[in-house]
Amino acid sequence: MSNIVKKVGFNFTFNPVACEDCQGRCCTGESGYIYVTKSEALAISELLAINIKQFVSKYLFKKGYKYSIKEEKINDSYECIFFDRELNGCKIYDARPNQCKTFPFWDYYKTRIGELKDECPGIINV
Ligand code: SF4
Ligand code: SF4
Repeated sequence: MSNIVKKVGFNFTFNPVACEDCQGRCCTGESGYIYVTKSEALAISELLAINIKQFVSKYLFKKGYKYSIKEEKINDSYECIFFDRELNGCKIYDARPNQCKTFPFWDYYKTRIGELKDECPGIINV
């Protein structure tokens, strides 16, 4: 059975099998913002079993009126603080923000498939 993911309105599909060998290119590499809403922040702090204030000060920074997850610079890579290189995955997977859940089906990429393919090896043109 095929696991290829399709979404109406997008002229590409996504094969999640690619994540197994990719080493989290969408969670590392170029610096970017990983926005979390208040309810997402609460869900993550619950998962980590710490209070929301501790969570915000330890893991988030303010960007305009929003909050984003901190990154850690490792060599030339800006890595989401929750990316685990040993496990090749997200430490807060069950509570990861919607921005992460919906990748790669972001409106931004509708007209930028080339840019997306450079980042994500699971993308297939349709
Ligand atoms: S960049 Fe694509 S293939 Fe790699 S981990 Fe992210 S979604 Fe998976
Ligand atoms: S929260 Fe998880 S899925 Fe989102 S960027 Fe960080 S490591 Fe990746």
